[in-house]
Amino acid sequence: MNIILLGAPFSGKGTLARQIVEDFHMVQISTGDLFRENIKNGTEVGLLAKSFMDKGQLVPDSVTIEMLSKRLESDDCKRGFILDGFPRTVAQAQALEKIAKIDSVIQLDVPFDEIRRRATGRRTCSKCGEIYNTATYNKTTCEKCGSPLFQRDDDNLETVNNRLEVYVKQTAPLIDFYADRLFVVKGQDTPADTYKPVKTFLKGRL
Ligand code: ADP
Ligand code: ZN
Repeated sequence: MNIILLGAPFSGKGTLARQIVEDFHMVQISTGDLFRENIKNGTEVGLLAKSFMDKGQLVPDSVTIEMLSKRLESDDCKRGFILDGFPRTVAQAQALEKIAKIDSVIQLDVPFDEIRRRATGRRTCSKCGEIYNTATYNKTTCEKCGSPLFQRDDDNLETVNNRLEVYVKQTAPLIDFYADRLFVVKGQDTPADTYKPVKTFLKGRL
């Protein structure tokens, strides 16, 4: 089974993907993580991506599609994958149709004022990638692995507003594109509340 998670920044795609990975045997593929890895390793793709990411803009489709297609060729994708953060444009969705079969698209629906509230409080574990929010977690190290938490360069209010605008203009049209495979879930409550209907839905699809 191949799944896409669709939703605005801070809607909880990363957290939901991790919950699904624990229960169903699939790999999580986040284009944001792939870009951050490229930046860390100082690759050409990383260098190019950073200039767009820092402004809250999308990395050009050609670069993103090429990187993602390569990733999908790996053996670990054969038993199913969850895409978190891809596609983000109609052009990306059209390219994806040609290289993989997508069974379900889960849309995380979160009001924008809740998103802005979450935005500046997000902290990410530098080692295992676990996500926290200062509103509910006030330690500076990860509960799971003890590593220091950090705030992403693009998790500030100005960039977040740009990212929301980009989402409305470029990504939200995908809700119509995938209307035939769409499962909508409210994502403003706790991660457990959000995951419950998703788990039931996915079990029914196995
Ligand atoms: P979030 O889900 O919180 O917005 P991501 O880690 O998914 O964060 O993405 C961070 C940034 O990486 C985006 O703002 C964008 O610049 C870039 N990016 C990630 N995925 C894509 C994509 N599919 N197409 C273009 N740019 C992307
Ligand atoms: Zn950790």
